[in-house]
Amino acid sequence: MSTYGIDLGTTYSCIARLDSNGNPEVIRNNDDDSNTVASVVFFENANNVVVGQAAKENIETDGDRVVQFVKREIGKRDTRTYEFDGKTYTPVEISALILARLKDLVESQGGTIEDVVITVPAYFGLEERSATKQAGELAGLNVLSLINEPTAAALSYCARQFQEDRTILVYDLGGGTFDVTVVEMSMTQNESGNDVQKINVLATGGDDRLGGKDWDDKLFDHILHVCCEESGLTPEEIEAETRQDIRSKVEEAKRKLSKKQSAKVRIDVNGSRTEVVVTRKDFEEMTSDKVAQTMNFVESTLQKVPGVNIDTVLLVGGSTYMPMIKNAVEEKFPGKVQQHDPDQAVAKGAAIYASMLVVEEGTGSGGGEKTSGETSEGETSDEKNSEVDQLTTKFDVEDQTPRSFGPGVVDTKGSKHKYVLENFIKIGEKMPAVFSKTYYPLEDNQERVRLRAFENMSNDDTLIPCVDEDGNPQATDPAHNVKLLGELIVNLPPDTSRDTPIKVTFKVDASGVHVEAVNTKTNEVFETFLRTESDIDPEKSAVHQLRISSD
Ligand code: ADP
Ligand code: MG
Repeated sequence: MSTYGIDLGTTYSCIARLDSNGNPEVIRNNDDDSNTVASVVFFENANNVVVGQAAKENIETDGDRVVQFVKREIGKRDTRTYEFDGKTYTPVEISALILARLKDLVESQGGTIEDVVITVPAYFGLEERSATKQAGELAGLNVLSLINEPTAAALSYCARQFQEDRTILVYDLGGGTFDVTVVEMSMTQNESGNDVQKINVLATGGDDRLGGKDWDDKLFDHILHVCCEESGLTPEEIEAETRQDIRSKVEEAKRKLSKKQSAKVRIDVNGSRTEVVVTRKDFEEMTSDKVAQTMNFVESTLQKVPGVNIDTVLLVGGSTYMPMIKNAVEEKFPGKVQQHDPDQAVAKGAAIYASMLVVEEGTGSGGGEKTSGETSEGETSDEKNSEVDQLTTKFDVEDQTPRSFGPGVVDTKGSKHKYVLENFIKIGEKMPAVFSKTYYPLEDNQERVRLRAFENMSNDDTLIPCVDEDGNPQATDPAHNVKLLGELIVNLPPDTSRDTPIKVTFKVDASGVHVEAVNTKTNEVFETFLRTESDIDPEKSAVHQLRISSD
């Protein structure tokens, strides 16, 4: 059974595994003659749901039955749901349909798939991460772990051409998002004393609302404008079919302009044929502000690592096929730009990481066995696995935390109780990040304590007053974007004194947050973390927090 890496993209998704030589390979999408699957779902009728390019072709004419860009909704609070033929779908369920399509792709080509690593944007918070994992499980996959997209891209590059002590800037312009990441590659030794290549993330930045779609929209507006001029019609008079015709052709025209100096687009404007010629120069002019926007993010990300010297810039994401991108980046980093599998690097890196996890930790559905034994095709694969082992044990990936995390507790010093959020782990710390601290019950003979865990965007040690008396995040502090992640109930035995130490531990890795509390008098461990509001029992939650120090 192979392990797979999945790039669940905003506009396109991709799935890869390691071949028998230990090299990452993408599973082809033969239906669309492509390496990717469009992340678009068309609910044709109660019995038929279409995922991929065929779904995309219905956007303008049947738009209310098409779901796209669902990655922007996944794991968000108060997010929308979608209703088709009497059934309601959450963003997690829609994402699961896309993942199931990728699973089908593997199975239709005779492969077996269970263990996967799914990639997520570096800026995804905990809820987006758990929702992504949940989507994988719903699609019938065993999600070994998540990995940040730029880290996966760097891993894939590193596997191909490792050079010691180099700093790489990953410029990832996809369909709907833009990410910048500064990564350091170095040689180090692992616990067993073997040399490993280390990938260390130094800074991340970007915009989750900037991507190839913006270039499509500009081209769409331009072509619509020309059609109106030629036909004498106003934009309102242009029929939905014509719009769909333009919509379905802009992306192709954009791709043509990556190769050629001009592209001809034939449109049926309300029944009469119009030909629009767009030159690369025109296209570059109409989108130059978007290119500049990406370069501003590059600048601001570089400022997070003062004095850094970039050796190589790695272009990933389908939109970096546009020559204007390469030119702009080349202008800032002359002679340092490399384009590396723009639309496959992320999935390939995830495939390498997935194999690494199985080899190193013996995790996965194989029940702790390493990848040796039989492959899904039935051949013995000792040879294959030694190659895979060689490749995958060469790396050590060190990523950064996307947010700050900590519990809400009571500070009893002073005349009035203060409800504070103590940041155990802060944005940009190396993952996995672990931190523990000891607290105490608020009163003698307390039946239980309630431990609330928060995520936020602040780098302060403590946030006051970010939580109210009931431990809820305060709306008065939107800048820090404090989110309640859930809570842990710690039941205390009768006659517990208020001096009983309760040790609280937070552990954060790319897959999520693990919260644990230990009553150090009884050594009882509590780790059942209630994530959703409906799980939280208001009766139990109403009172009894933890206080900071023993006084
Ligand atoms: P995401 O991960 O955000 O889904 P991808 O990295 O797969 O995105 O990139 C998809 C974007 O790349 C789309 O906007 C697509 O139109 C664009 N793209 C793909 N190939 C080309 C090309 N040859 N020229 C210009 N844009 C391209
Ligand atoms: Mg992407």
